[in-house]
Amino acid sequence: MNYDIIVIGSGPGGYVTAIRAAQLGFKTAIIEKENLGGICLNWGCIPTKALLKSAQVFHYINHAEDYGLNKVEASFEFPNVIQRSRGVAGKMSKGIEFLMKKNKIDVILGTAKVQPGKKVSVTDKDGKATEYSASHIIIATGARSRELPNLPQDGKKVIGYRQALSLPEQPKSMIVVGSGAIGVEFADFYNTMGTKVTVVEFMPNIVPVEDEEISKHLEKSLKKSGIEIMTNASVESVDTSGEGVKANVKTANGNITLEADILLSAVGIAANIENIGLEEVGIQTDKGRVLVNEWYETSVPGYYAIGDIIPTQALAHVASAEGITCVEKIKGMHVEKIDYGNIPGCTYCHPEVASVGLTEKQAKEKGYEIKVGKFPLSASGKATANGNTDGFIKVIFDAKYGEWLGCHMIGEGVTDMVAEAVVARKLETTGHEIIKSIHPHPTVSEAIMEAAAAAYGEVIHI
Ligand SMILES: Cc1cc2nc3c(=O)[nH]c(=O)nc-3n(C[C@H](O)[C@H](O)[C@H](O)COP(=O)(O)OP(=O)(O)OC[C@H]3O[C@@H](n4cnc5c(N)ncnc54)[C@H](O)[C@@H]3O)c2cc1C
Repeated sequence: MNYDIIVIGSGPGGYVTAIRAAQLGFKTAIIEKENLGGICLNWGCIPTKALLKSAQVFHYINHAEDYGLNKVEASFEFPNVIQRSRGVAGKMSKGIEFLMKKNKIDVILGTAKVQPGKKVSVTDKDGKATEYSASHIIIATGARSRELPNLPQDGKKVIGYRQALSLPEQPKSMIVVGSGAIGVEFADFYNTMGTKVTVVEFMPNIVPVEDEEISKHLEKSLKKSGIEIMTNASVESVDTSGEGVKANVKTANGNITLEADILLSAVGIAANIENIGLEEVGIQTDKGRVLVNEWYETSVPGYYAIGDIIPTQALAHVASAEGITCVEKIKGMHVEKIDYGNIPGCTYCHPEVASVGLTEKQAKEKGYEIKVGKFPLSASGKATANGNTDGFIKVIFDAKYGEWLGCHMIGEGVTDMVAEAVVARKLETTGHEIIKSIHPHPTVSEAIMEAAAAAYGEVIHI
């Protein structure tokens, strides 16, 4: 069976690539060994947000009095909360099935292995292998939870994100190792639902990729909500022989033992590069990722790679953008390269965190003379009406030309606001153009305009 394009893996990298390929007139097939939609729809972006929504609703009901309503005590059955999240994931995966049909993309279920001569062999669940060929093979096999040698996951007491999304019962206590977006989102969910959560982070700050002020603010907010946070600390070993887990944690003041029902390891991801035929074809890898050029071509012509298996930001929107760029280039279109400096990053804990561009430290390190503006959400009318005043907006401009170097936000709803900064930066908008762009009142987005005004000494509401 011969195709123009075969895509391996149906995550936000693979399925989006396949749709764009089909739109461009390529005869396209997609191969998936598990569920359509990949990690993002089934075990990542979507089910985590469903859990966080349940936690937020639970929190709101328990704080009804804050909104002038009668006191209510919300209750829940943990399996129902999990079931809702799984239902949302299942619905989204079904949606991908529909999109594949609509775009006349052949869906091949099974485990794919690339072979020399632009061939792919697919082994189905009964062990039957079928060979396919294509002019272009795009590998988008994604990633899995990274396992550290001293933190082996048994799936029961020491778990990864898949188990954290589908636990049969709520743990009374949980240690979360790693405070990147994934770790912090789970810590927030379980803490809000009543689990005693301790976060252990190796770096000096939680959400370490964020601007330091944002990290510090989030740490304070999460601690206030009841999460225990240990930074500059690392789990050296775990003991699962007793009832729960005992973690031996190295801290600046010596080693301590933490005990909990469950330990969630959220220390990053490992790309799925094994047993997919890379060595047989001669496709080069480095540090566990597939090497590609700016058009996602691997070291072997006709084979491409996108998404979590290449060394770019491991985010769903990055995977999708890479896939679109890759097939448009194959089509011979005039394509713009992806600007990896303008990728938004979001963490959906409460308060939410969203950012794009340089942090203050990075801007200084790059030698920019900068103007920094900040606006607290406590001064925002909409945030006050919403009862969510925790957080602030921080913007960084180049003092010389007004270029918007970075935007860092913490607060309710900021993940939906960061796109303004992405678009403005893409259009090379200056600080004054932001100040002169009239934002609707009352919205939390006004805080971005006010933060820009603060950078130029023109802020109105503080
Ligand atoms: C808990 C969690 C929360 C996250 N939240 C967010 C978020 O809020 N926002 C965000 O942008 N990103 C988030 N991410 C990251 C995001 O999920 C990934 O960046 C994204 O899924 C990567 O897409 P991909 O297409 O490269 O790979 P994946 O989504 O991993 O898909 C790869 C697919 O390939 C299939 N596959 C693998 N090997 C084979 C084979 N040999 N044959 C056939 N099929 C194969 C797999 O079964 C899988 O379906 C989150 C991740 C996790 C774990």
